[in-house]
Amino acid sequence: MQEFFDAGERIGVLTTQPLDRVLDYRAPEGGCFLGAFVEVPLGPRKVLGVVWGPGAGDFDASKLRAVLRVLDAPPMREEMRVFLEKAGAYTLTPMAAMLRLATRAPGLGDPPSMRKVYRLGEGEAPRMTDARRRVLEAAAEMGGLSLTLKELADAAGVTSSVVKGLVKSGAIREEESPRDTPFPRLDPEYGGKDLTDDQAGAAAVLSEGVRSGRYGTTLLKGVTGSGKTEVYLEAVAECLRAGRQALVLLPEIALSGEFLQRLEARFGARPAEWHSGVTMTERRRVWRMIGEGRAQVVVGARSALFLPFQNLGLIVVDEEHDTSYKQEEGVLYNARDMAVLRASILGAQVVLASATPSLESWVNADLGKYKRLVLTSRFGPAVMPEMKPIDMRSQELASNRWISPRLATAVKQRMERKEQALLFINRRGYAPVTLCRACGMQIGCDHCDARMVEHRFLKRLVCHQCGESKPMPEVCPSCEVEGKLAAVGPGVERLAEEAQELFPDARIAVLSSDLYGTARELKAHIESIAMGGADIIIGTQLVAKGHNFPLLTLVGVIDSDLGLQGSDLRAAERTFQLMRQVAGRAGRAEKPGQALLQTYQPEHPVIRGILAGDEEAFWRAEADERRIGGMPPFGRLAAIILSGTEPQELFDIGNWLARNDGPLRRVDAQVYGPAPAPIARVRGRHRVRMLVRGPKEVMLQNALTDWTRPVKLKGETRIAIDIDPQSFF
Ligand code: ADP
Ligand code: ZN
Repeated sequence: MQEFFDAGERIGVLTTQPLDRVLDYRAPEGGCFLGAFVEVPLGPRKVLGVVWGPGAGDFDASKLRAVLRVLDAPPMREEMRVFLEKAGAYTLTPMAAMLRLATRAPGLGDPPSMRKVYRLGEGEAPRMTDARRRVLEAAAEMGGLSLTLKELADAAGVTSSVVKGLVKSGAIREEESPRDTPFPRLDPEYGGKDLTDDQAGAAAVLSEGVRSGRYGTTLLKGVTGSGKTEVYLEAVAECLRAGRQALVLLPEIALSGEFLQRLEARFGARPAEWHSGVTMTERRRVWRMIGEGRAQVVVGARSALFLPFQNLGLIVVDEEHDTSYKQEEGVLYNARDMAVLRASILGAQVVLASATPSLESWVNADLGKYKRLVLTSRFGPAVMPEMKPIDMRSQELASNRWISPRLATAVKQRMERKEQALLFINRRGYAPVTLCRACGMQIGCDHCDARMVEHRFLKRLVCHQCGESKPMPEVCPSCEVEGKLAAVGPGVERLAEEAQELFPDARIAVLSSDLYGTARELKAHIESIAMGGADIIIGTQLVAKGHNFPLLTLVGVIDSDLGLQGSDLRAAERTFQLMRQVAGRAGRAEKPGQALLQTYQPEHPVIRGILAGDEEAFWRAEADERRIGGMPPFGRLAAIILSGTEPQELFDIGNWLARNDGPLRRVDAQVYGPAPAPIARVRGRHRVRMLVRGPKEVMLQNALTDWTRPVKLKGETRIAIDIDPQSFF
């Protein structure tokens, strides 16, 4: 492939605009490299693009427009272009949308912007005050390095005007420096721990993989607290030694506070961060520095996978089973699978870490496609908590009460011992249902076929599907009778209320994602709880994800049966993972933990599997069931979601597709549906689903494209194809 195009040569440019093709342009003055980021004219606008290859030549040469300018960023590497093409082909996503994923930073085309920084100068302070001395000391401590105004003022504990005062006399120097500064070097030898034999063995295998410089995926399985993080940080260290970059993907922003400190302790400096909580200027800095190789490690959410790494050697997917790796809006991709794809193109290693791997990864390891490393015991004296059921059929409970006497007694014991207890319920808000006791109506969302959930904290009803909310009404919207609206069922807020009544002396903390304005607030709160800032933690799924609560010794699961209902293919797997993860929160430090599972179905195979702790048996049974049904990972699934304003039209299209399934039958795939989606109306749009199942050996993508191509969509109607669907809503 031609690597450089001279001025005036015809080139093809992929833009971020929703066009179906690469457009022809003329290379600019000075020429441009293949992969260069460019700005091109499109109609009256200037848009971002990437030089994708020679032009197609099917456009009148005299009308060709020239590239406006080449942006000041290293060209997109071939590996990245191939990755975007393959990922786009797999997820059936147009290339423009793929390019948008890879350029999600603002102002990429802007000239490098400058900011003022401060360091120690030669001048004398005119009149020394205590505050001024502190500034000079703080600046001296930095050696020749400079700080921003705020950083320096904070370090000295003074207002910024004190610093400004010193600038006048030259005691502090003010300089302009580029805003996008490189990240500090990370030192692989800085803070390593002495590993146990188990850990060292696993770390050696991972490091060996990194050194090979070839592709390979390893499933790193180990109970929570067994040291998986310590182990994969050794692989990151090896990657640094080899001069390559590493990416650590985490499922939740909330994880990164504690996590970044850990990395800093290990490598002596903070790595780059990439997630929705990162400011726009910081995003731009990260994007640029990664491209220039001046950020060595990135800790990020799934979209970090699309950053322009210069020399990526390792991708860690922590909590690889987590469902948030699947992007459910816009481009429908699974970051775990795409990590494996990108690494295989690059010749990089992937580490999938989890205490409760997804069935997909478990099977891949079983088949030998992935290596498998297992850490069997918790680090140090910590042991997995003892797990016991509480049979709710034998517990006396008043109506509208959910904490059984047995669980309450256990909580009291912990409080007496100054230990923490966690009550887990996977439901946000106060109550899932608001019912009118006069007419029997349940308040639903105006735009979705979903019930509104009362959030007492916000004093509103909220739809968890579309986010619509309205004030809690005084009278029933249907029969207009006053004072008859009743909350039915528990949510995390209601549980907190019950706990406060049961344990009046307890300091209770509620952890639910919607109670915090920002990720930062949430992080701060979690850290203070971990330090002992609460006796009882009441939490949703949020708490299941990797935070350390050293004082926690009891986990009470309020409704273990919750996840077992519903028709989701993965219901059992999810319940199993969630319960194990939550239970894993207990007894992480020296004190042994206990997990009590309230259930009405103690005989249910999933509940028994959880209690028995026999994971291999559980997975084997799940795998067998899926194999028999031809379900993933033994078969392939794709979901078709038709959405629009007219349900009849959607069914007409669906029925037409079902009748004309030739392209699917040719690859031995079957189609099910059309059927209304489980939540048939979201945000006022009706949704109809179809499911396609095919054998493992064939890729469904081409067949799906051929099959759906004849469909002509009118107006607001949309068709979305979800390859490997995770959720069935
Ligand atoms: P996991 O990722 O499997 O949940 P972690 O790596 O977070 O486990 O380890 C759990 C805790 O034990 C952490 O606080 C970690 O620092 C500590 N730990 C694990 N292994 C060691 C070790 N070899 N030396 C010292 N501390 C360790
Ligand atoms: Zn809604």
